[in-house]
Amino acid sequence: MGQPPFIIIAIDGGAASGKSSSSKILADRFNLLHVDTGSFYRHITYELLRRKVPPTDHAAIIAALAELKFETRLNGRSAQMLIGGQPAGDEIRGQNVNDHVSHYAAVPEVRTALLAYQRGQTAVARQHGFRGLVMEGRDIGSVIFPDAEFRFFLHADPTERARRRENEGRIDSVAERDRIDSSRKTSPLCCPPGAIDIDSTFLNLDQVVEKMAALIAAKIQ
Ligand code: C5P
Repeated sequence: MGQPPFIIIAIDGGAASGKSSSSKILADRFNLLHVDTGSFYRHITYELLRRKVPPTDHAAIIAALAELKFETRLNGRSAQMLIGGQPAGDEIRGQNVNDHVSHYAAVPEVRTALLAYQRGQTAVARQHGFRGLVMEGRDIGSVIFPDAEFRFFLHADPTERARRRENEGRIDSVAERDRIDSSRKTSPLCCPPGAIDIDSTFLNLDQVVEKMAALIAAKIQ
């Protein structure tokens, strides 16, 4: 028997919509590389803030990006981005990055700088013997992998999402980030045509995962 076909699962959705938890479980279940692209935008944001490059200064952003070297190492089943050989610290989940990340993510040059790196995660997955990858973000099913075998879009009521963040003990500007992410010109947060839309407001994590896993299993086994 030959190798099973490589599969790509795209999971998009707003902040705290359940993307991370569900994609990690799917990665375990189907032997996939887990790729959290939000962590890539967060790491770049942290680096640009550290260099005191404001999101409004596109020329300075372009110059800074040209100096950044992106690499990947594995952290369990997850792809971890290294910038200049360094992994991101816990600060990328802190309030300063929360408050700024959507502004940098709206800059077209930032998105372009990450495009090939994100698509290149398929090579990382193959190299490490994964059966495929599950990538979560805002534009995975629309821009990064529009031909992915599975494209899911998770949404949930904003009040419920804010409550989830609070339960995690985190302060996050969920609604404000969604507003900026949905209204930007380049690769806005949206449910692309043909993607499977799942409303998780009244579903627990297991129920969301089971919905996705059933569809995946039916197609690949
Ligand atoms: O997924 P997470 O909430 O950690 O993402 C942080 C931010 O990164 C988002 O609010 C968005 O501005 C940006 N992002 C993006 N495109 C992606 C993933 C994240 O613009 N594919």
